[in-house]
Amino acid sequence: MTEAWRPDDEDERRGAVGPVKVRVPAKVNLHLGVGPLRRDGYHELNTVYHAISIYDELTARRGDTLALTMEGEGTGELALDDSNLVIRAAHALAGYAGVLPHARLHLRKQIPLAGGLAGGSADAAAALVACDALWGTGLSRDELAGIAADLGSDVPFLIYGGTALGTGRGEAVSPVLVRPTSWHWVVAIADGGLSTPAAYRELDRLRDSGAAGDPLGSTDALLGALRQRDPRVLARTLGNDLQDAALAMRPALADTLKAGEAAGALTGIVSGSGPTCVFLAADAANAERIAAELSSAGVCRQARVAHGPVAGARVI
Ligand code: ATP
Repeated sequence: MTEAWRPDDEDERRGAVGPVKVRVPAKVNLHLGVGPLRRDGYHELNTVYHAISIYDELTARRGDTLALTMEGEGTGELALDDSNLVIRAAHALAGYAGVLPHARLHLRKQIPLAGGLAGGSADAAAALVACDALWGTGLSRDELAGIAADLGSDVPFLIYGGTALGTGRGEAVSPVLVRPTSWHWVVAIADGGLSTPAAYRELDRLRDSGAAGDPLGSTDALLGALRQRDPRVLARTLGNDLQDAALAMRPALADTLKAGEAAGALTGIVSGSGPTCVFLAADAANAERIAAELSSAGVCRQARVAHGPVAGARVI
């Protein structure tokens, strides 16, 4: 399924555009409020997205067809055919702009598959930005975000990055404007993924049986905390309505959350639909210590430090 990646300077010798390299971050939800199930099968969301410094990288070169290769997280597992969000994004942009969808794309993946960090959506956003530059289609970010919304609910946010409010099914994004502050996170990556649709189904089941906690409600407290720039205040306002569902599907995550807090994190939450857990640290040194303790506690596959907010998909 995966081909070896052979860098090829043929394009540069021919003087063609490229290669274009795009870096795209993972996202966490600082607040993930899940409303009722809509008639179209999606839940109404009220969320605050936050882009963090764990990145995938997509390189785009001129080609005579559309082809994708990859390395890193998910290699050998993730199909590289038309089902891949990178390929779907390239087709969507080509269709919109009226150009041939020809490119050789290579994905370097660090964001785990089905991790609740929106890696697939990040890759779709990267493909839109990379192909737009490679093909010279020159679309604005807002136009790219419009195409992105049809590819997945989280894709528009990953075009913009930063910290942003998401409503609708998450695709309607507006930036949260606060004075620049860097928050320090520890990201505990689990073995294996969790299916996002399965997590929503589990939440519906818990709610139907009266076993779910109270829904989060408004984002006001979180938005106020972001303005105060004090991680202890922010820690009290993080929340995720999908956390109970993720814990029901993967009870061991409770040990991960406990271990992070015992290691000195201000708080920990499940990221999106899980199974990744994210912990807020008081500062960068604290984050390093928590990551080291989580790594040695054996409660996750990998613990990494990250900071946020960072920019969305960008040519580097
Ligand atoms: P989210 O947080 O948006 O719910 P996630 O982080 O839990 O997503 P992803 O890794 O984004 O999960 O992907 C979920 C599924 O999307 C994968 O299991 C895979 O079947 C499909 N997919 C298609 N293209 C990609 C891609 N480039 N990278 C990752 N997954 C992809």
